[in-house]
Amino acid sequence: MKTLQVRCRCGGVEMAISGEPLVQMYCHCDDCQAVHGGAYVPESVYPAEAVKVVRGEPLTWKLKRSPRVTCRECGTRLFIEVLPLKLRGVNGYLLPPGEFNATFHMQCQFAVRPVRDELPHYKSRPARFGGTDETVDW
Ligand SMILES: [Zn+2]
Ligand SMILES: [Zn+2]
Repeated sequence: MKTLQVRCRCGGVEMAISGEPLVQMYCHCDDCQAVHGGAYVPESVYPAEAVKVVRGEPLTWKLKRSPRVTCRECGTRLFIEVLPLKLRGVNGYLLPPGEFNATFHMQCQFAVRPVRDELPHYKSRPARFGGTDETVDW
């Protein structure tokens, strides 16, 4: 099985990710905005057991809704714990080049500005991830 080694910016924390992602997307939710200080965030989602911290002891903290795992030294946001679905969403910008290919935008109800591209733009989440499949008009 394919394994990716992914590190925070200072290298103090390393993760091993096994297998292919379940999905890759951009999340515009207010929780991601607050945690990352950005308009939206690339996420590569795996079953929780496929993402393991193999070096370092990152901090787990919560700002609004979901626990986030972060390097104590450099502050890199490593992944989000999606506890009800037993998933971990690794920050897509940490993956090696070519490994992040989003297939949709979600939580566009919170979007700071429209991001017009060829991908679907879901108002909340797609139905297969507990949403409604409703899209926004951009
Ligand atoms: Zn670090
Ligand atoms: Zn989000």
